[in-house]
Amino acid sequence: MKFETLAIHAGQKPDPLTGAVMTPIYQTSTYLQDGVGKHRGYEYSRTGNPTRTALEACLAELEEGQFGLAYASGLAATDNVLRLCKPGDHVLAGNDVYGGTFRLFERVFRPYGLDFTYVDTADLTQVRASLRPNTRLIWLETPTNPLLRVSDIAAIAQIANEQIQPPLLAVDNTFATPYLQRPLTLGADLVIHSTTKYLGGHSDVIGGAVVGVDPQLRETLAFLQNAVGAVPGPMDCFLVLRGIKTLPVRLDRQAENAAAIADFLTNHPKVARVHYPFHPTHPQVELARRQMRSGGGMVSFVMADGETAARKMVESTQLFILAESLGGIESLIELPAAMTHASVAGSSLAVDPGLVRLSVGIEHIDDLLADLSAALA
Ligand code: PLP
Repeated sequence: MKFETLAIHAGQKPDPLTGAVMTPIYQTSTYLQDGVGKHRGYEYSRTGNPTRTALEACLAELEEGQFGLAYASGLAATDNVLRLCKPGDHVLAGNDVYGGTFRLFERVFRPYGLDFTYVDTADLTQVRASLRPNTRLIWLETPTNPLLRVSDIAAIAQIANEQIQPPLLAVDNTFATPYLQRPLTLGADLVIHSTTKYLGGHSDVIGGAVVGVDPQLRETLAFLQNAVGAVPGPMDCFLVLRGIKTLPVRLDRQAENAAAIADFLTNHPKVARVHYPFHPTHPQVELARRQMRSGGGMVSFVMADGETAARKMVESTQLFILAESLGGIESLIELPAAMTHASVAGSSLAVDPGLVRLSVGIEHIDDLLADLSAALA
């Protein structure tokens, strides 16, 4: 079946008890046991809940994986994946990752004995040169947050597999979503999502997910999911499931709007540089077009007059809402250096203070362009 059909039906069937067409919100923490230890598939909702099961099955199918695991947030999902590493292990990560990911790596996992190196994963020479015998994990974002850099997932999977002890390749697919790219089919071992973003799609829920193929990885991660306990509640799972149903429709419009906005900004005298994966000026445009279905809904750009102009810009829009996060149906604007990426300030990952990031929504393009035009003026 095609993605648009799976987005609505994968992992979901009318409820066998009542015929409810939408997956019910099983708002229960515990389940009847017919005898001691004799349960009907569920015993306690940290371990499993039917609404969560539907979401996990749906995500697995959309990413063409064999299993999905849902978490309370994208960072909780990231945390569980990092727990596959042991003290002394090395992690190779992209040098343009979400600020909260960097904070988790540096301030939580480094003190526990993991070592991290950050490189431009768009540059395969750097990736190859930075691998060590003890590299257990490669962590990619593609496209990256906030510079929309694109890395070659298949080529990096191949480099990983050439190692004597191949590291796991984990791809944060939050920006692209499985509608635009499916890293597992390109050789990645794990896909991570902040379902808070495009999958939820309405800025009304926080959630995360991990999807993979290997049954042993599933077993370890499912153990960690339950043992650490950062699981989403059934209402949150329901909201993400509902959001996913319209993902292709939303993202088509978002990408159409974002491409038009990238064109507009490229030709604007107050804008120095525009980052958008499918724009002809993007350094990896060919790779992006090969690896992704569309350029997605995120655009970032540098103001010619730097930080002061960027601050003024983000505070001047009427329709674009000044807020963190992304991927919802409404358009958002923000200043990464001071907002989403404040936790990388002063590090080698620090973001240009004149950079503005847009999460483009599904409003009418004329209204979005008029808003940006007025704010730039
Ligand atoms: N990965 C990316 C690319 C993100 O943009 C974010 C949040 O902005 C996260 C992970 C973390 O997700 P959450 O905020 O759901 O914990």
